[in-house]
Amino acid sequence: MNLNTNYIKEFLDIEDPCLNFISCTRTTYRGMNVIMCVALAELNVCPNCESDNFIYNGFKTVTIPYISANASKPVFIKVKKLGIFCKNCQEYSYPSTNIVEKHCHISNAVKRKIISGLTEDRSMTSIARENSVSVTTVQRCLDECSAQFTLSFDSLPEHLAFDEFRGIGRKLHFICQDGEKHTIVVILQNRFKSTIRKYFEQFPETTRKAVKTISTDLNCYYGSLARELFPNAKVVVDRFHMVQMVTRSFTGFRVQFMKEMDKTSREYKLLKSHWKLYLKKYKELEGTHQVYNRSLRAPYTQSQIVSEGLQCDETLENTYNFMQDFMYALKYKDPEKIEELLSGNTRQYCPQLRTTIRSFRRSFRAVLNGAALPFSNGCLEGLNRKIKQIERTAYGYSNFTHLLKRIRLEQNLISLKKSAKRLEAVQHSH
Ligand SMILES: [Zn+2]
Repeated sequence: MNLNTNYIKEFLDIEDPCLNFISCTRTTYRGMNVIMCVALAELNVCPNCESDNFIYNGFKTVTIPYISANASKPVFIKVKKLGIFCKNCQEYSYPSTNIVEKHCHISNAVKRKIISGLTEDRSMTSIARENSVSVTTVQRCLDECSAQFTLSFDSLPEHLAFDEFRGIGRKLHFICQDGEKHTIVVILQNRFKSTIRKYFEQFPETTRKAVKTISTDLNCYYGSLARELFPNAKVVVDRFHMVQMVTRSFTGFRVQFMKEMDKTSREYKLLKSHWKLYLKKYKELEGTHQVYNRSLRAPYTQSQIVSEGLQCDETLENTYNFMQDFMYALKYKDPEKIEELLSGNTRQYCPQLRTTIRSFRRSFRAVLNGAALPFSNGCLEGLNRKIKQIERTAYGYSNFTHLLKRIRLEQNLISLKKSAKRLEAVQHSH
């Protein structure tokens, strides 16, 4: 008997001394083939007054899903709690075990497994099935461990990054990140100015005045709002977006130029199949080692391909040179060079780049700020990709809050480790 108890306990990895396992059998439960372990929980003394003057008062039975290695054979623990009535303090009580929290029918071990499943790129349905619980239970676990993300309105990071992403129903959501640590500050349901204003006005004015920079993309949508909410902050055009705009201009012109070319010509091949090389920094191209190139039928180095390709057209070459100078000026944080590049004559560049330069000139200050400061929204772009992945796995979220929590959970893994510790602490305190 005792041996049996110890064996089952070891098998299930349970350390609770109050539980005595009686049996472990295969049976059907709620239409499933399961392994059902039956345990008895008894009290030696009254938990209230520690007196042993009590009488037994019948069983209360709870059945708890437990973790199992094989999802087709779920393990359940049926705990028979033997209640007592204490004659000393006139109280009814039942034993509590540390495999579940009070008023809860899911074991802590399963909860931990669900939470760790939620941090992976998986759908809630698949997590629910693996742990033999309902989807609602998985959602409840998500709610529970997101409770720690509750907002406080006492502090804001010094450097904020504003952006937006496409979420539920193709709507745009506003997202704000810490520009340095890249943690999420807030995700709002939409990107209306009134919503953003309402959110940030919950912070006291002194907190908002302490914000030093707001980085955003070049469309001035957030610029005026940022100035209004954060009076001391510099508005910064994000470097990542600037580079993106310049490289897009170059690519746009390259593609347009190629359309007029003979598709079998050497020039066409130089520009077409090696498009990636043109977007790299010139100094990072391989310049000494020649590799046989099959489409061109000759050995070439990477920099040879680029310089020969650019010889096709003067405008293309000028645009390329501007793009390279611009990327280097940003890399070495050289606002004077940016100023020089933007204030020069633009006639030698392609029309796409001329448009880009014009819009840079319109937000000249913010562009120069962006060139001088080390922050970038590149992290936000990475996050956008991640969000799309989460949505794709879930076949689209119908509930914005659930999507939001999942994003936060997958993003802020550090806090998750804390939550696992918290669960453990709760276990030990029982
Ligand atoms: Zn008592």
